[in-house]
Amino acid sequence: MAQSLRLLKHVSFTATLVCKTGLRIGGTESGIGIGTAENPVIKDPRGIPYVPGSSLKGKLRAMLEYKYNQVGDRGAPCGCGQGLDKCPVCTIFGPHRNTNHGLGPSRIIVRDAFLSTGSLEDWENARTEGEDFTETKTETSIDRMTGMAARGSLRTQERVPAGTEFQLNISLRVFEGDDKARMKDIVLEGIGLINKDYFGGSGTRGYGWVEIKDVEVADA
Ligand SMILES: [Zn+2]
Repeated sequence: MAQSLRLLKHVSFTATLVCKTGLRIGGTESGIGIGTAENPVIKDPRGIPYVPGSSLKGKLRAMLEYKYNQVGDRGAPCGCGQGLDKCPVCTIFGPHRNTNHGLGPSRIIVRDAFLSTGSLEDWENARTEGEDFTETKTETSIDRMTGMAARGSLRTQERVPAGTEFQLNISLRVFEGDDKARMKDIVLEGIGLINKDYFGGSGTRGYGWVEIKDVEVADA
């Protein structure tokens, strides 16, 4: 049976993402990059760091694909196009590069996440003081024979500092015939997996330990 396209409702999730270690979601050096020459984090046109919805959506999806062993060929996103009972990813996120499926439109909408009120104040205070809100971390690779910094290995990366909070907002479309409860559970499961894993770049080296907390689900 073809997926009904009768839209019944949106379930919305709001939460706070707290950076427990520095968070790095890379921007482009030719873009904003105010005050930062090398490897800046992504910022809005005012120069304020934010979390692109695409980054959070991609991480949610990737964690759920690992959890349910639904990673596509050569590590690509899943494009199996199977229903929710077989694949928890394709219905919610859309099957990757698969136009021949009956799942209907992607269900999840992950919005860009902006600084919480308190963190925005911190950003404004830093700007007033002429200081950087973000931190710049310099790293190097150690030559294991000499114990010295390997030649050419020095690099700096900009990070959003630990303690920064972003306000998350996710919306889930529910069409007629959808298993709403199951979809909700899967989104919440994905959020829990991110808390146990990392978010953004260089996570295996300590960046991007986050806690997504105060999750509220509005299912009215
Ligand atoms: Zn799939």
